[in-house]
Amino acid sequence: MLVMERVTGESIPAGVERSTLEKAIASGFPLLKFPRQLEAAFEQEVADQRCRQLILGGLFGILLYDLFLIPDWLIAPQTFSTAVWLRLGIVTPIALLMIASLYLNPPVVIREFLVAAGGVALGAGSIFCLMFVGDAGPISVQHQSLILIILFITMVQRVRFWWAVAACLACFAMHAVELSVMPAYTSEFQVSANTVFGCAVILTLFASYVLERETRMNYLLSLRGRLQRRDLDAKSRRDALTGLRNRLSLDEAIEVCESADRLDDELAVILLDIDHFKSFNDTAGHQAGDVCLKRVAGIVQSELRDYSDDVFRFGGEEFLVLLHDVDLGRAIRISERIRKAVEDASIPHPALDLGEVVTVSMGVASVVLSRDVRVGQVIAAADTALYSAKRNGRNQVAPRMGVADFLAQPERRASVH
Ligand code: GH3
Ligand code: MG
Ligand code: MG
Repeated sequence: MLVMERVTGESIPAGVERSTLEKAIASGFPLLKFPRQLEAAFEQEVADQRCRQLILGGLFGILLYDLFLIPDWLIAPQTFSTAVWLRLGIVTPIALLMIASLYLNPPVVIREFLVAAGGVALGAGSIFCLMFVGDAGPISVQHQSLILIILFITMVQRVRFWWAVAACLACFAMHAVELSVMPAYTSEFQVSANTVFGCAVILTLFASYVLERETRMNYLLSLRGRLQRRDLDAKSRRDALTGLRNRLSLDEAIEVCESADRLDDELAVILLDIDHFKSFNDTAGHQAGDVCLKRVAGIVQSELRDYSDDVFRFGGEEFLVLLHDVDLGRAIRISERIRKAVEDASIPHPALDLGEVVTVSMGVASVVLSRDVRVGQVIAAADTALYSAKRNGRNQVAPRMGVADFLAQPERRASVH
C-alpha cells in the first residue's frame, strides 16, 4: 500500500520521483505500463473510482443482457425456457456475485480478470450455449450479439488493454467455432461474417488502446501538476538566499503554536543578529555579505539538529528560532552553543581589526503558551533581550527574564500582536 502525502489540499503518492514521472511522460509508455512505483500509484489512486464505474457498468450490462429475453422469445420460442434458465437462473446471479466482490476493492489483476473473464465466460459463453442447446437452427442475431459483449467489455467497462486483447481473441474464437459447427452456414458466409467480426474486434481494440493511453497520460499530467504545485508551495515558504524558512512560513508556524492543542506547552524564542554586518557589507561587498549570511544560516541549522526546521530568516541579517517544549535555561544553553559555533567558524570580518571574526548576538525569551499569550509578544520580548546583548558589547546571549510580567505591561499588549 503506497503512502499518500497531503500537500496544498491535494494528495500525492509519497516517494514518486519527478524524473521517473518525466521519463514516463516522454516515453509515451507504448506497452501501457509505467515503472513499478508509478504503476502502483496509478492503480491505487484510480482503484476506488474504477470499482465504482465497474459496478455501475456491470449492473447496466446485466439489465441489457436480460432484455435479450425478448428477442429470445420472439425468434426462438422453442428454446425460450432454456434462455430464461440460463440468463436469469445462472448468468445473472453469478454476475451479481462478481459485481458484489468489486465492493471489496480487489487487487488490479483480480479486478480486471473478473471483468474480462466474467464478460467472456458469462456473456459470450451463454450465447454460445443458446446456439446449440436449443437446436434452434441458424439465427444470425445470436452470433452477431457477440459484438455487444466485446463493446461492453472494452468500451463500457474499459477493461485494461491487455485483458481486452485476451477477451476479444476468446470471443473471436467462439464466433468462428459457432459459425463453423452450424451446417446451415456456408464457408463463404463464415469467411465474410468472421471478417466483419474480426474488423470490429480490431477497431475496438484500437479504441481501447487509445483510451487507456489517454487515461494514463491524463493521470501522469495531473500528478505532474500536483508535484509542481507542491514544489512551488515549498519554495514559497523558503528564503531563496539561505534556504531557511521565511516570514510566510513563520506566520504559519506561529498560527500552529497558538492553536488550542498547543496550550500549556513551553515555547522558547531565540532572535539572532549578526554583529556589525553593515560594515562587513560596506567593506567586502554585498556578495561577500551574502556568502557570510549563508554560512551563518548553515551553522545555526547544523547546531540545532532536532529543531533545524524551526529556523527562520526573520529579516536582513536576523534569524529566529522557535524551540518547542524548551525552558529558558535550556534555550540559553542552546543559544550559547550557536554563538560559540559561529565564533569558532572564524569567518574573518573585513571591517574589524585583523584577526577579528564574525560574531552574533542573541536575545532569548520563553513562555508557557496560554490563551492570553501571543507568540508575537514572546518575539518582542526576545527582541528587547537582543537589544541588551548589543548594548552590552555584542557576541553574547541575553535572556529576557520574567516574560510573563513583561507581557502583562499594557503598552506591550498594544504594541505587539
Ligand atoms: P549590529 O551589530 O548592531 O547588528 O550592526 P549591523 O551593522 O549588523 O546592523 P544594521 O542593522 O545597521 O545593518 C544590517 C545590515 O545587513 C544592513 C544590510 O546591508 C545588511 N543586509 C541585510 N540583508 C542582507 C542581505 O540579504 N545580503 C547582504 N549581503 N546584506 C544584507
Ligand atoms: Mg539587524
Ligand atoms: Mg546586525
